[in-house]
Amino acid sequence: MQAEKLKVEVLPRTLAFKQPAGTSRGIYRERRVWYVVVHDGERCGIGECAPLHDLSADYTPDYADVLERACDRLRLTGEVDACGLECCPSVLFGLESAMLSLAAGGSRLGDTAFASGKQGIDINGLIWMGDHDTMLARIDDKLQTGCRCMKVKIGAIDFAAEVDLLRHIREAFPASRLELRVDANGGFSIDEVRGKLDVLARFDLHSIEQPIRAGQWDEMGRLAAESPVPVALDEELIGVYGRDNVERMLDVIKPSYIVVKPTLHGGMTFGARWIDEARARGIGWWVTSALETNVGLNSIAHWCASLQTSMPQGLGTGLLFTDNVDVGIEMRDGRLWFKRNVPNDEMLQKICQWT
Ligand SMILES: [Mg+2]
Repeated sequence: MQAEKLKVEVLPRTLAFKQPAGTSRGIYRERRVWYVVVHDGERCGIGECAPLHDLSADYTPDYADVLERACDRLRLTGEVDACGLECCPSVLFGLESAMLSLAAGGSRLGDTAFASGKQGIDINGLIWMGDHDTMLARIDDKLQTGCRCMKVKIGAIDFAAEVDLLRHIREAFPASRLELRVDANGGFSIDEVRGKLDVLARFDLHSIEQPIRAGQWDEMGRLAAESPVPVALDEELIGVYGRDNVERMLDVIKPSYIVVKPTLHGGMTFGARWIDEARARGIGWWVTSALETNVGLNSIAHWCASLQTSMPQGLGTGLLFTDNVDVGIEMRDGRLWFKRNVPNDEMLQKICQWT
């Protein structure tokens, strides 16, 4: 039998949201994540696999088995088989993160200005779906915190009410002071989308994510060309594997932006490929977390900081759970800051306390 190069442990955990999180696929009240802990005999490293039920291409009933097989390979080779895991982005991301964490020994991953605590990452404040009054209250809260970029989920309550919310925001803050993004999560039909985009264009929006459902490349391409609001792709990237398909999708649709989520879109390895291909075509991009806990959020933030971008990123979602691990990050003045290098042992101890 081959000797194991690393000890790898999987710690599944279920976490409760402080407030139910409304997404394009319904409301999440709790969240199942799998922490991957690697030990080399001296130190440990922690990564987080956090596929989203109904949204992740790799969230299958045998997810735990797939993860275990990937861990087996890591035990034997001591390396992450990125190519073999392209179709399992959340597994790939968790394993990649665990290995970076092992090398770092703590939550400071790398030597960027972010990691040294000198520079915060601009964040788009995210307004979760809810009824009109709840969303209004959330928007006002967010505006108080000094956020310079806000993203509002639309396509869930009635359109007139959503337009009313956008008007409320714009009355308080012009585009010069607040960048406003909307995310329709594929909620508009092809028949109605153009009319709605014309209405939305009145509010000086930075972009609209996924105006129509993913998988309609020709129609999305026409929209991207004609829309008065720049089109960003998010769900469209899910399940698109292989460089040829990535290139084809970007060339057919020619979006203004893509939203890159390591957990959903290829981990860090293939997330970086999305970004390279976007850059080669003059397509803008930003990085977004996908309801990971702080362990995953911290990995994404450090990765994002290494990519040299000044656009506001979607990294605000890790602070949503009743239980969480202190990884030394904090939100302040609309930015995510890294304040303290937390040793991996300390984080692991906390995770082991949850059952
Ligand atoms: Mg989105």
